[in-house]
Amino acid sequence: MALAMGELATKEIDPTGIRRISLGLRFGQVLGGFVSMAGIVDSHTHLHSFALKGILDPTLEAATEAGLRRLVTVGTDSDDWECYAGMAEKYPQVDYTVGIHPCSVDADWETRYSQIEAFWSRKQKPVALGEIGLDRFHLPRNDEAAAKEIFSLQVAACEAQLQLAKNLDAPVVIHSRGAFEECVSLIDGSGIDWTKVVFHCFSEGPGEMKQLLDRGGFGSFTGVITFKNAESVREAAKLQGLDRLMIETDAPYLAPMPKRGKPNEPAYLAYTAAFCAALFGVTPEVFAEKTTTRAKAFYGLG
Ligand SMILES: [Zn+2]
Ligand SMILES: [Zn+2]
Repeated sequence: MALAMGELATKEIDPTGIRRISLGLRFGQVLGGFVSMAGIVDSHTHLHSFALKGILDPTLEAATEAGLRRLVTVGTDSDDWECYAGMAEKYPQVDYTVGIHPCSVDADWETRYSQIEAFWSRKQKPVALGEIGLDRFHLPRNDEAAAKEIFSLQVAACEAQLQLAKNLDAPVVIHSRGAFEECVSLIDGSGIDWTKVVFHCFSEGPGEMKQLLDRGGFGSFTGVITFKNAESVREAAKLQGLDRLMIETDAPYLAPMPKRGKPNEPAYLAYTAAFCAALFGVTPEVFAEKTTTRAKAFYGLG
């Protein structure tokens, strides 16, 4: 059976119960063999769940086979920071960040906040602080007072972490959901260098992208860009331009087409890359070279 472009993986359950992925057609073959050159970078993923399920090694192998050369695994709370620091030591293709995700913020956030800075004294330092920000989507629905209280804690945790990132001169990964303007004004107020700021999973339109561009900030794009109804997200990506583009999976969330709705994994970045190369009308080689150069420069990946 002929495989359509982007039809990459077939899955099987092996007898040990570990899900293995065999790529019927490699991303490099699909796109003309560029993978052996620059490769692509998953600039934002969460590898913790794969480690918990005992499938980290096959997941990383599948990622390599799909053309990924580097992965940035992004911290969300103190439960995953140590795990990620260990992964970055063990796997040369993995780098990590630490930060308190807005959905992990509670009344006790300062205790965990006080542990962040020490990661920068380690041999294997984080490549950024994050993800941090504001998230209205997951606030309590039926308790306005509780929602207000949690949102104000998110603001406080975000402000504190922005100051820390500024002091450390570290790049910052911003998570903004239903709170774009507030995130922008917190960053403006922090005095942080906007060229070190990325709004990950950019899901807004060109108007919001222009606000980032005017300040020197970046947006990075998940599989959302492949969704049929995401025309304004595609316009935002085009406005930013290929030279500033970064792509990510945000795995295990947000699988791109044609895997939408299924658990995501880093190898599926190949679908987003294939889609975006076509969107920008460039060859796979150019696409890989530009996005890899940008991600490496932003995160300071050696
Ligand atoms: Zn996020
Ligand atoms: Zn994330």
